[in-house]
Amino acid sequence: MNVADALKILGLDKNPSASQLKSAYKKLALEFHPDRNPGDPEAEKRFKQVVIAHETLQNPKRSAVRATPRGRSSARRKGEYEELWEDIFSHIFKNAREPADEKKSTSRDLHAQVEVTLEELTRDSEKDVAVSRRVRCASCGGRGAEAGARRSACPACKGAGEVRYRQGLAELWVPCSACDGSGEHTGLACRVCGGEGITRKRENLRVAIPAATREGAQIRIKGMGHEDAGEAGDLIVTVRAKAHPVFRREGNDVVLDLPVSFSQAALGHEALVPTLKGAQKIKIPAGTQSGREFRLKGEGLSPAGGRNTGDLRVRVIVETPTKLGERQREILDELQRISSPSNHPRTRTFLEKMKSLLE
Ligand SMILES: [Zn+2]
Ligand SMILES: [Zn+2]
Repeated sequence: MNVADALKILGLDKNPSASQLKSAYKKLALEFHPDRNPGDPEAEKRFKQVVIAHETLQNPKRSAVRATPRGRSSARRKGEYEELWEDIFSHIFKNAREPADEKKSTSRDLHAQVEVTLEELTRDSEKDVAVSRRVRCASCGGRGAEAGARRSACPACKGAGEVRYRQGLAELWVPCSACDGSGEHTGLACRVCGGEGITRKRENLRVAIPAATREGAQIRIKGMGHEDAGEAGDLIVTVRAKAHPVFRREGNDVVLDLPVSFSQAALGHEALVPTLKGAQKIKIPAGTQSGREFRLKGEGLSPAGGRNTGDLRVRVIVETPTKLGERQREILDELQRISSPSNHPRTRTFLEKMKSLLE
């Protein structure tokens, strides 16, 4: 975004003073704030423009580095800049939407996900899951009212009048929508929960993940969901399997594709293969065909009790050499010339079948 566009979006003349910029930003950011326009995509768009315009005018140099089109790479630069802010915006809009979404749902169950690696699934393990639970406000006992409360600091922004959003190195300040950016809170509502009687509690909960748990499995933890009207729901944790760079899972088996060169497959080869617990040598006998599987017993995943323990299946993929040099070509030429049908039984069978078809 360039300075002229930014000025236009904020309705400012050239060279605004810092206070003019601040007050125009405050007014427009609050008008289009996601908290005040839930589910309104037009307001969301305007809000983003207003925040980016403010950022552009506040840090003209920094924004220019990221956002100014420069020749061919302009599209990418612009994309990166917008991506950066998209991250922060998604955070703002997620927070803004959460309460509205949950009001509709009567469920007290709290959902979370946990990502586990294949290595972690080789044994029973424990994972910390960060959750944000609705709990009864301890300050007002859930009543929402504060007896004899006077003018006090706004609970949402702790009196700052602004709320900071942060994502990696980028951060932005947005006027607090709870107090109109004043930082003050008047009235008799509880200052901790803002009168709702419920507060959000961020917690790290430890979840036990049994060995060999399947992708998509749900683990239910009683009483660790949201608290409403004195009752608590459950926490339901969905297990997500993290993709492994070399292994893939099939039931309790673990499958590995092992590339082997053409000559290694023909001559025989001792290969070092990774397992979930380290590495092992396996013997690839001379004449091994592509697709052949070698089974390492018990090297797969083992569910509780040790029954149905899987294997590690090493599947040989014979790689045809490419980008041959002259000498290599000569050798292979020579090899082809002196090969006999008995060296290639599959080819021989195929040719015989074809012959009978054509006869
Ligand atoms: Zn506030
Ligand atoms: Zn309260």
